[in-house]
Amino acid sequence: MKFELPELEYAYNALEPNIDAKTMEIHHSKHHNGYTNNLNNAIEGTELEGKTIEEICKSEGLSGAVRNNGGGFYNHQLFWQIMTPNGGGEPTNEVGSAIVRKYGDFEKFKAEFSKAAATRFGSGWAWLCVNNGELSICSTANQDNPLMQEGCGGKPILCLDVWEHAYYLNYQNKRPDYINSFFNVINWRKVNKLYLEAL
Ligand code: MN
Repeated sequence: MKFELPELEYAYNALEPNIDAKTMEIHHSKHHNGYTNNLNNAIEGTELEGKTIEEICKSEGLSGAVRNNGGGFYNHQLFWQIMTPNGGGEPTNEVGSAIVRKYGDFEKFKAEFSKAAATRFGSGWAWLCVNNGELSICSTANQDNPLMQEGCGGKPILCLDVWEHAYYLNYQNKRPDYINSFFNVINWRKVNKLYLEAL
């Protein structure tokens, strides 16, 4: 059973003006597709073939090809799910309450998550995870993720791609503007579902 590029639940232009259609199209149909194909090639005929993507990410001693492309496959499929054209705002559901309990208020959470995303040098990701029932924020380099026990660890429920390919066409070097716009498209309903599953 090969991994397949997941379809988006919205059109490439649906997240405009926050994320432009061309960036979404290249990001999904070229970058994510490339990670998917390269992952399939890297695990073919190995003991990792047939495992779930979570199991692969948690495996010890991953080769560079599996680590980069397995992370690339997992990270992007989560990223597409936690965005929606009808997103943004402050969540009033269970994860919203957990954010206020942990960070004081939503703006403080937004500031800490944004700082993790802005200060990740070079290419990587910012994460919100559930770790033993507690929310935690971290960032990882390249296509690593918390399932690989880099950074904060735990189960990811929200992520932000800060590779230049995720924003450069529209935002050029202005990563903080891209981070700010991301908060307009977060699918808090989906994040809440992931939060409740991770408890
Ligand atoms: Mn990406």
